[in-house]
Formats: sequence, C-alpha cells, structure tokens
Amino acid sequence: MSILSREYFHIEAKAFEHVESVLWSQGPVCPHCGNMGRIYKLEGVYSKRSKKNPEGVERHGLKKCGECRKQFTVRIGTIFEESHIPLHKWLQAIHLMVSSKKGISSNQLHRVLEITLKSAWFLSHRIREAMRAGSLGPMGGNGKIVEADETYFGNKEVITKRTKRGKSGLASKRAVLGLVERGGAVRTFHVERATKDNVSELVSENVHHESALYTDESRLYVSVGTQFADHQTTKHSAGEYVRYDGGAVIHSNTIENYFSVFKRGMKGVYQHCAEKHLHRYLAEFDFRYNNRVGLGVNDSERAFTALIGVSGKRLTYDQAGI
Ligand SMILES: [Zn+2]
Repeated sequence: MSILSREYFHIEAKAFEHVESVLWSQGPVCPHCGNMGRIYKLEGVYSKRSKKNPEGVERHGLKKCGECRKQFTVRIGTIFEESHIPLHKWLQAIHLMVSSKKGISSNQLHRVLEITLKSAWFLSHRIREAMRAGSLGPMGGNGKIVEADETYFGNKEVITKRTKRGKSGLASKRAVLGLVERGGAVRTFHVERATKDNVSELVSENVHHESALYTDESRLYVSVGTQFADHQTTKHSAGEYVRYDGGAVIHSNTIENYFSVFKRGMKGVYQHCAEKHLHRYLAEFDFRYNNRVGLGVNDSERAFTALIGVSGKRLTYDQAGI
C-alpha cells in the first residue's frame, strides 16, 4: 500500500490531527499567550457562506484558549499560516518533495495537487524554508574529515563589473561553497563570489578546528587550512584526484558528487531559478542529503523532520520575491 494512501493526505480533519501530534507533542499551546493548560476544542464551526461554498467550510482544528480567550489553530506561526491551501495538500507536497531524489517542479505540484501554478510555486518555497536548518554547531571534530570545495553554475543575472566584456569567466556564474563531513552531513552556501576572505570565514566558522580539512589545490583554502588539525590537498590540475597517505584516502570526491547531484537536479527540474532563491534550493538539496537512506532515514522520518521545521518560518509573498 502506497504511503500516500494514508488518511492525513486526503482527509482534512486527519491532516490537522497529524500536524498537531507532531508540533504539539506535549499538547496544544496557545500561540497568543503561551498557555498550555485550559484549551478547548471548537467543533462544528463553519466559515462564512459564499457563492462557492453556500454551506460555508468547516473550520478544522479550531481551538479556544481558556486564558486569553483567543482562537487559534496549529497553522498559526508556521509556514501554513495565511494559506488557503488545505493542510492535507501541504502534507502531500512535503511528502513529494522530501521523497523525490532530485526534487519536484512547481508544475508537477500544480498538476498533482490541483492548485494554481502560483500557489504551487509559493508552497514549494515555503517548504524549502521548513527544510532550512537553523544555526548549527561546527561540523566534523577530532578524527573526522571534512571536505570543502566550491562550484559554479548557471549565469548570474547581473553581470558584475569584474567581468570584462567578452569574457564569460567564473565571475558570471553563481558561486556555491560546499562542506561535507565524510559519512555525515553537508552544508552549502551561496556566495556572491568565492574569495579567500569569505571562503576562509565560512570554513573557519562551520568546521570544527580539530577536523582534518581536505580540498583541492585551490589557493582559497591555503591560509584557512592552517587553522585545522590537518589540511590535505589533491592536485586536480595535475590530474590527481585521489592520494593515499598512510591509512588516509585523500580526495574531495564526496563534495564533488554532491555538487553533481545538485546540478543535475537544478537542470532537470528547476531550470528557472532566480539567484535570490538559490539558497532555498540549496537548503532543499542539503536537507535530502542530510536525511538520506544511507544515514538510516526513511521517507516518513524525513517528512516528520521537515514538518518539525515548519514552525517560525513564515514567508510572505514579499520575502519570496514575487
Ligand atoms: Zn492564550
């Protein structure tokens, strides 16, 4: 039986129960005053009648706080707030986005969920926000290996002054810095341009200094490399991609493989990604990598983790840049 046959993907009341069980595991919390005590269920409440819905629409999951007397649902303060899309469709969208290897286009969501293309686009960006990790501690640690590399893809929309006429060099591409712990998590960053200064700052802040840092021979990593327990490089310009040093296998193939998955996904599914949204697409690919099967995470657990992330990530049309 397909996972999508679960009731909360189709029945609105069940969708509310599911989201409440995840976000309110200790019982409902009033978003207005923080009260967790006296909270009442309001049942059989309908929205105003309209031409489209002459009977009104049942308001699911409605609660009333016994302290401040205000009403609320579990959608308040989450990416679902102020959305007219039913919660069960949101749950389907989250499931589809976390379980497809390369991502899913707004067009596909628009067709599968039977919502407008604009709604599908906005919903998918909100879900990417839910996948975005908050501030995290440094990666790696004693005895751990962290690979760092930068990549370039697509074209920048605004050609910077640094690009000389007729020269379509790296300055016209979008730069992404990637860090990955061997056998662990990835973290990527969209940078205006990869420079020694911003690369050094990101690597230094995000990688535990007791880790071994593996990179290619790029000059970007020479100075920051001295901050780590060890810094090993392979010389790609000389065709060297793997080097064996004692027991150590030195390469940065893990991060390069990650970049190739990202680029294939972006090419295949997200052809038209505005640069200002790139960090959200990166968050989506990071999320799937960090919750991958190889780390023992299945589709349901991945959807659960994404759902935990919906709180405090409201995104207005303005911020989304529509
Ligand atoms: Zn209250």
